Amino acid sequence: MESSKQKLDLLVMGAHPDDAELGAGATIAKEVSLGKKVGILDFTRGELGTRGTAETRDEESTLAAKILGVTLRDNMNFKDGFFVNDEWHQRALIQKIRAYRPEVVICNAVSDRHIDHAKGSKLASDACFLSGLAKIQTFDEAGVSQPAWRPLRVYHMIQWHDLEPDFVVDVSEFIELKFKAIQAYATQFFDANSKEPQTPISSENFLSSIRYRAQNLGRLTGVAFGEGFTVERYPLVDSLDALK
Ligand SMILES: [Zn+2]
Repeated sequence: MESSKQKLDLLVMGAHPDDAELGAGATIAKEVSLGKKVGILDFTRGELGTRGTAETRDEESTLAAKILGVTLRDNMNFKDGFFVNDEWHQRALIQKIRAYRPEVVICNAVSDRHIDHAKGSKLASDACFLSGLAKIQTFDEAGVSQPAWRPLRVYHMIQWHDLEPDFVVDVSEFIELKFKAIQAYATQFFDANSKEPQTPISSENFLSSIRYRAQNLGRLTGVAFGEGFTVERYPLVDSLDALK
């Protein structure tokens, strides 16, 4: 999908293509349905994934983005497994954050089984902070100096580990669209006919666990399905009526 430099309401950053769908797919679909401009920024092409190839992941992530209806999907081309949270990677991300100017960012889980997730989480979070410092100079693709931009809110997905959410989004009407987007990654997830090696995420159990988690968060909050997130600072409300 072509990247465009229009301003976004929400930017979802993930270490691997499919992180956004698994961790926040239904919330993305819901925000799109509310008229928000949503973008997905993948850090790597998932080239170390046991199943499929970087090329199949490109095709799958493009299809998933279409299913979710996002405005754009972009890729940092960082090295899968080996990207680090250093100045070079932070500056590359700052350039994107300043180009897309999102109000809200959703990024990887703060701790997880895959080492790229916690690493990607801290990298995204640090880049969001640094992007707000005017004395860090970056330039857009045309060579024009970019003004500082700090997203107002940075939220973190819940991925492999069952982290406790700080808030839950009611995604009851968008859970099937999330699974449709996940199924776009045909090489990655459960397929009884696949001849590829089994991985932790290719089992039938993994997909069931994603649905069950959403259902359980729904049970705990009084709706059909929920997607949970963690925050970096206390959520602020104007009044006691603000929470459902
Ligand atoms: Zn991942």
